[in-house]
Amino acid sequence: MKLCFSIALVSMSIFSIKEDKIYYIPFDIPGSQMAATIPPFGTFIESKYKKDKSILKHELAHWIQYERMGFVGFYTTYLKEYAKYGRKYGPMEKEARMMSKKITY
Ligand SMILES: [Zn+2]
Repeated sequence: MKLCFSIALVSMSIFSIKEDKIYYIPFDIPGSQMAATIPPFGTFIESKYKKDKSILKHELAHWIQYERMGFVGFYTTYLKEYAKYGRKYGPMEKEARMMSKKITY
């Protein structure tokens, strides 16, 4: 319960900081991806998923990871995991899916 609470608090502050960095794009991202978070530049979500809050929460979880790990840590870890496990099954992706369920928005 304490964990859920702290994640909610962090996500609120992350959201207020990053709200202006969420871009809905009117075309498909190549591959099966629906969205991408590329900090510090922004979160890019296919506009057809604008109402899908689960995607937004997942991408916000990546911002939380970025804030925690920093630029170098975020990208080196993510790319290593991508190479080893593929796009969906690395520990950071699993964590983002877990965290996104706890983010209230
Ligand atoms: Zn992800």
